[in-house]
Amino acid sequence: MAGKVKRKCSFCGRTDSEVALLITGVDGFICNECAEQAVEITREYLRDTGKKKLEDRKKNLPKPKEIKSFLDQYVIGQDDAKRFLSVSVYNHYKRLMQADSADEVEIEKSNIIMVGSTGTGKTLLARTIAKLLDVPFTIVDATVLTEAGYVGEDIESILTRLLQVADYNVAEAEKGIVFIDEIDKIARKSDNPSITRDVSGEGVQQGLLKLLEGSVVNVPPQGGRKHPDQKMIPVNTKNILFICGGAFDGIEKKIAQRLNTHVVGYNAVNNVSKIDKSNMMQYIAPQDLKAFGLIPEIIGRLPVLTYLNPLDRDALRSILTEPKNSIIKQYVKLFEMDGISLTFQSEVFEYVVDKAVEYKLGARGLRSIVETIMMDVMFELPSSEGAKSYEVTLDYAKAQLGKANMSRLQNA
Ligand code: ADP
Repeated sequence: MAGKVKRKCSFCGRTDSEVALLITGVDGFICNECAEQAVEITREYLRDTGKKKLEDRKKNLPKPKEIKSFLDQYVIGQDDAKRFLSVSVYNHYKRLMQADSADEVEIEKSNIIMVGSTGTGKTLLARTIAKLLDVPFTIVDATVLTEAGYVGEDIESILTRLLQVADYNVAEAEKGIVFIDEIDKIARKSDNPSITRDVSGEGVQQGLLKLLEGSVVNVPPQGGRKHPDQKMIPVNTKNILFICGGAFDGIEKKIAQRLNTHVVGYNAVNNVSKIDKSNMMQYIAPQDLKAFGLIPEIIGRLPVLTYLNPLDRDALRSILTEPKNSIIKQYVKLFEMDGISLTFQSEVFEYVVDKAVEYKLGARGLRSIVETIMMDVMFELPSSEGAKSYEVTLDYAKAQLGKANMSRLQNA
């Protein structure tokens, strides 16, 4: 029988007796000293690549004006919201850069809340800004959140999504941005703290508060419910930027109430006459959010409050054709893929907008109207030999919509 083979560190070659510890691998060994050195080299490497990423970010950091003009390519109007978002995202990056330096002035984050009727572009803004970012970004819906112990998702699952888009790189996720949609749905039902338990409202807000304030949260890597056997990943939310959005249906009344009570003093007539009643949202203030049912602590953690305007006729007309991926441009592209050049009589656009306004369908309705007009053509044209171009005329559009059931569109 051959003598016992001497165990040697595969890195430095020293034997069992020459080192304190020899760790066994699949095909070799490593001694304690080489292992320590390896740790050191890894750390240095990660520090350098982290620094490089930071430098890249610094170099490519878009300025607020650049961010806004990028948003302008996709989102019509909503200048206020765009400005607020651009500045907040820019500052978020600056804060991330500062996080790595030992500076005494610590920049605190400014989470954002956007208030605006449904279909005015809140999610679109969030999605568009995501295209520009090189930090992990995710959109979550507040309606699925419930307090721990109830049916629904735990608050922590918000961070699961962020971890997933960051490929479970915790350090990256900790620099990410989360868009929480429909934040108004977790408002408590009345301004007064309720006596009975409010499963979907205040409890969830309390949970959310923890994330917004910045704390270390144990996140279930697969999301859903916390499971006793699941290994949790601790995530620090200190540097995560939260952008919240909500329609806050009926908040205009609260705004009006506040404005009315405020303008009762001297100068009252003057102030009232200046109020633009067609767009009350522009006067939104934190106390209106409180009146709607957000707890003051949450409001305090969302210091940047901005609003979206209702979309008027002109805005709808622009949305139809102007954005980089406008509905009409998408149809033109679809036909182009079949080798057909698609055009529209300009009256068709006016007609589509008229219908959207008439049936109060908003921007979302534009797509369903155009879809209804185009359905037959999209069915027939690809099979017709030799078709090289097609023009949608006003008469055709009218005939197509005439056949359709507009009430069906209304529920879309
Ligand atoms: P919400 O405010 O409810 O989040 P969305 O952002 O989801 O509304 O808007 C719904 C759709 O309507 C968008 O996908 C987009 O096609 C269109 N839209 C709404 N507002 C705008 C806008 N300001 N500019 C361009 N398109 C818009």
